[in-house]
Amino acid sequence: MTETLHIVGGGMAGSEAAWQAAEAGVPVVIHEMRPKVETFAHRTGNLAEMVCSNSFRSDDHEQNAVGLLHWEMRHAGGLVMREAAAHRLPAGGALAVDRDPFSQSVTDALRAHPNVSISGEEITALPEDGHWIIATGPLTSDALGRAIAAETGAEALAFFDAIAPIVYAESIDMDVAWLQSRYDKGETEEERKAYINCPMTRPEYEAFIDALLAADKAEFHEGETAGYFDGCLPIEVMAERGRETLRHGPMKPIGLTNSHKPEEKAYAVVQLRRDNALGTLYNIVGFQTKMKYGAQTEVFRMIPGLQNASFARLGGIHRNTFLNSPTLLDNQMRLRSKPHIRFAGQITGVEGYVESCAMGLAAGRMAAAEILGRTLPPIPQDTAHGALIHHITGGAEARTFQPMNVNFGLFRPVDGLKGGRRGRKDRYKAYTDRAKQDWSAWVASQEVPA
Ligand SMILES: Cc1cc2nc3c(=O)[nH]c(=O)nc-3n(C[C@H](O)[C@H](O)[C@H](O)COP(=O)(O)OP(=O)(O)OC[C@H]3O[C@@H](n4cnc5c(N)ncnc54)[C@H](O)[C@@H]3O)c2cc1C
Repeated sequence: MTETLHIVGGGMAGSEAAWQAAEAGVPVVIHEMRPKVETFAHRTGNLAEMVCSNSFRSDDHEQNAVGLLHWEMRHAGGLVMREAAAHRLPAGGALAVDRDPFSQSVTDALRAHPNVSISGEEITALPEDGHWIIATGPLTSDALGRAIAAETGAEALAFFDAIAPIVYAESIDMDVAWLQSRYDKGETEEERKAYINCPMTRPEYEAFIDALLAADKAEFHEGETAGYFDGCLPIEVMAERGRETLRHGPMKPIGLTNSHKPEEKAYAVVQLRRDNALGTLYNIVGFQTKMKYGAQTEVFRMIPGLQNASFARLGGIHRNTFLNSPTLLDNQMRLRSKPHIRFAGQITGVEGYVESCAMGLAAGRMAAAEILGRTLPPIPQDTAHGALIHHITGGAEARTFQPMNVNFGLFRPVDGLKGGRRGRKDRYKAYTDRAKQDWSAWVASQEVPA
């Protein structure tokens, strides 16, 4: 008899994982604690509930990495994408849905599947044996969060994210910014030039502080701040504590010399640090923020060198339970210390409905193949699924790991294409063409002949 796959959490990831495994012929039990145990954000007992926006973001699968994830999930028979199409609302290029009928029909489809059963309970401990996927999301219940932290070590499980904005390296003006580590620290030339530095004069700094103080900020949701601590203050809160606070914190200019103007001492310096092994993404160090997205782009483009910056991800601080996946998970998304447990969804350090769902799809297929004794070919790195998995399980810097959206900065370059803004359209088309080809081959490799 085929062994059972247990999935904890019937959100975006758990629902998709269950569907993929059940379709492959594996019996699945979904353990979902709602409605018995509630979270501050969910309203219903349905599976795949959208807790806030009703949008799966861009559906453009030629020029947008999120749209590409949609395409890949559709191509792999994804349930969430199927039901999103059935409940689509007009929203320009975005895939927005009528949220309640959408999640109701995901629930109905899973209930009706002969290989799926749903058990309405909270799981409070890590299982000792069997096949498990934990997909309990950003609001993992307290008891299970404690059990995970006991296994991984408290420092490897975060309860809040503190996301600093991430900039595409190619959009930084290197005629203004320069490469240097503070005090030229480092054994190698690469380490001595590990940071990109953006200089500010005093008037530029003053104008920047004024803009930070005046910018629109997002509020924490009701109930979201429980357990929040003062450890990683938003930059605007630091600025509120005193106009000079940032200049003595993340924007301190000491130990840095502007290579374009060595005789001029900067009044303040904004530093960016490499965010992925490919070197295509840089995060703005210490710039976690609760400014609204529109305000962030405006304020951050005031930084000399970032006047034309393109952002792969904007900053934020949210209640968000997530693992330090680069250290804890193997490339099959299994917990290294307990490989009978996989993780999927937002708890793995991806961010958003679409990315979480995609990680559910991947984990569901991986678990099903393992149970059925089949060899699953590795997910190709040049697909959107592959780029994300590669990032969270190895490509990202473990020390500073924060949740990630899918974006083209995670993709390996396609040889022979022009860099910079001008070549962007051709480059994105080349990424998505390559991904579709690789993904189609990967999906076809798992089709069992009738
Ligand atoms: C307040 C808030 C607003 C958000 N807004 C957006 C947005 O607008 N757009 C967007 O793309 N993303 C948003 N997100 C992120 C979004 O929640 C995730 O991207 C997505 O829902 C994650 O999918 P998931 O399957 O990993 O987790 P979820 O969809 O949260 O599913 C996890 C499931 O696990 C269950 N569960 C938790 N602990 C246990 C347990 N111990 N036993 C059994 N069941 C358990 C929960 O009840 C839940 O159903 C928001 C998150 C929060 C917290």
